[in-house]
Amino acid sequence: MKKRRIVILGVSGSIGQSALKVARDIPDRVEIVGMSAHRNASALATAAREFPGARCVRTDEPDGEERLIELATMPGADLVLVAIVGTAGLRPALAAIEAGKDLAVASKEILVMAGEVVLQAAGRTGARILPVDSEHNAIFQCLEGRDLSTVRRLILTCSGGPFRHTPRSEFEAISPERALRHPTWQMGKKITIDSATLFNKALEMIEAHWLFGLPIAQVDVVVHPQSIVHSMVEFVDGSTLAQLSHSDMCFPIHYAVTWPERIPNSLKPLDFAQLGRLDFEAPRRKDFPALDLAVEAGTRGGTLPAVLNAANEVAVDAFLAGEIRFPKIWEIVARAMAECPHVAHPGLDELIAADRAAREHASRKVQE
Ligand code: MG
Repeated sequence: MKKRRIVILGVSGSIGQSALKVARDIPDRVEIVGMSAHRNASALATAAREFPGARCVRTDEPDGEERLIELATMPGADLVLVAIVGTAGLRPALAAIEAGKDLAVASKEILVMAGEVVLQAAGRTGARILPVDSEHNAIFQCLEGRDLSTVRRLILTCSGGPFRHTPRSEFEAISPERALRHPTWQMGKKITIDSATLFNKALEMIEAHWLFGLPIAQVDVVVHPQSIVHSMVEFVDGSTLAQLSHSDMCFPIHYAVTWPERIPNSLKPLDFAQLGRLDFEAPRRKDFPALDLAVEAGTRGGTLPAVLNAANEVAVDAFLAGEIRFPKIWEIVARAMAECPHVAHPGLDELIAADRAAREHASRKVQE
């Protein structure tokens, strides 16, 4: 099989760096043809020295989005890995799909905000959407080739975050420093706070609903603190398939870039005797209302998922800046969902307008 020629949007982040590790690991299967970074010029320069053939773009300039779109649609690339935090990857991702490139999606915001638009565009151009988020990649592996009508439910696993056992009465006192200490995954700040509020899982529920074309009522969550089972699919006959590996983003990235084949690599497999046990428990939905907000957003659809996502981004920034207390993150998102205008079948421009309106709404609530 020929090499996958890959563009990495967001090479300096943890996903981007894991993608470079995969490229080093299987150099005869992967060629990095393009990379972008936002502010981290030194990470980009380091990567450019290692992969001298790749076109490099810095996006912290006035024409950043245009340059990103050019990179995402460059001739000679066949897979674009979108690993930019937040919504900045949306237009470049759509441009890549329109250009017929396959898309490996690590930025969950893209599917949460514009799942319908993205999936429709992919259906039109034949571009394939390959999930890199570990949970969705796990489900993708379990579903491989199976008819959706045979699926009873998708079961997303969730680490539970650092406050899995913290009483609700202590939530007011949680500091950003404490929330940033995640038990199993090393990630950026935004996603680490999202793991603590369970908004990360909320976004993933909506993402799964779009990616796999199932109603959100069929997307369930179970807490699994060891982060070894990355997600599961329960079928109509009562059997459940799961995907297991160490919690290292190189696994899902490797699968996405080598799919539909399975290729040997140097990643360490599991030693079950050493693991000893795997635990599961129900999420505390009442104390962590993010999951129920996701069900509401996924059920009503339209601009609501975009509102949830945008309000959460603003609330997380405010929490990290010490402007609001931890439980107010949920409150700000719930208020934005209840109070921002709703559009049932938005196009891209309406989604971007809803995103902006929700940010303004949430910023006002931060000040209150
Ligand atoms: Mg995930």
